[in-house]
Amino acid sequence: MTAPAPLQQLPAALLGWYDENRRDLPWRRQVSPYRTWVSEIMLQQTRVAAAEPYFLRFMAAFPTVDALAAADTEQVLRLWQGLGYYSRARNLQKAAREIMDRHGGVFPDTYEAIAALPGIGDYTAGAILSIAFQKPYPAVDGNVLRILSRLTAWEGNVLDGAARAKMRSWLSEVLPPHRPGDMNQALMDLGAAVCLSHGRPLCESCPAASFCAAHAQGREQDFPVRVKKTTRKTETLTAFLLLRNGEIALRQRPDRGLLASLWEVPHTAGELDEQQAAEWLLQNDLIPHRWVKKIHWKHLFTHIAWQITGYIVEIQGDGDSHWLWCSPEERAAHPVPSAFSPLIKEIDNGTALL
Ligand code: SF4
Repeated sequence: MTAPAPLQQLPAALLGWYDENRRDLPWRRQVSPYRTWVSEIMLQQTRVAAAEPYFLRFMAAFPTVDALAAADTEQVLRLWQGLGYYSRARNLQKAAREIMDRHGGVFPDTYEAIAALPGIGDYTAGAILSIAFQKPYPAVDGNVLRILSRLTAWEGNVLDGAARAKMRSWLSEVLPPHRPGDMNQALMDLGAAVCLSHGRPLCESCPAASFCAAHAQGREQDFPVRVKKTTRKTETLTAFLLLRNGEIALRQRPDRGLLASLWEVPHTAGELDEQQAAEWLLQNDLIPHRWVKKIHWKHLFTHIAWQITGYIVEIQGDGDSHWLWCSPEERAAHPVPSAFSPLIKEIDNGTALL
């Protein structure tokens, strides 16, 4: 078992709670793959209370897959009016027609066949398989990610695709084989009524409170961790490890902004070839004496990526009067940010001999 301990305790606690607190919903009063499927599609973008009357009207008009497949599309869309996201209704009918054509009108009961139908993703396939067929498939949506993150005080980013795969695998391990559908529905109900997404979760009413890691730490609202991917701007620059009589040149960054006040090797914007780099050195009163090495690397900050070309070059001249010429011992007192480490390492590993 790789699922964390709180998840292994979850089924017993949650199913007992579900037996007493389950919501009475129209699609639960009579269960079939068709009814579970339609309800889950409606609930994708819609609150339960808003979906209920739509579900009842839809079922009255199209009680079976073949009724939906044979229906006039305009009528399907009319019954969907007000729910929005009409592609859901169109896909429902497309999938109903596929079930008629490819599965002889019988709702398929394997993950592969269900997930291949239009408009059905991993969550919906798991919900149908577990609720209508009693097969042990997890149904992991935002609610489940939130609950499992809190139960395990999971510091990983739930917006990362790998998070969903991890939670799915944990939940698969602990789904009780005799009640997988009830377990998935119990998680849905817990997320809707107790382990809330907005505001404070109602831990005092939660059947998992005694083993919930976030609750034990008083950090319920720190989870789930959501870190949005940032788009980084790429900047190119050319940096110089200037060698002169056993010393290298460092300069201090401005006292505001990125890497404020830290020491760095001299550099300039853009990717310079050797001739352009020589011109830049001459503009700074330096004469290149020997080109030792050229290297390339990339350094990532949160919002910026530096694409760096680095030259190690022996020079003559003093350069900018603000630069500091440092011996190896003096350099230790002026730490250089890791963005320039590949150049500095060349001294430490002996490539650039001072
Ligand atoms: S104890 Fe609180 S935070 Fe933990 S699962 Fe229950 S409601 Fe959510």
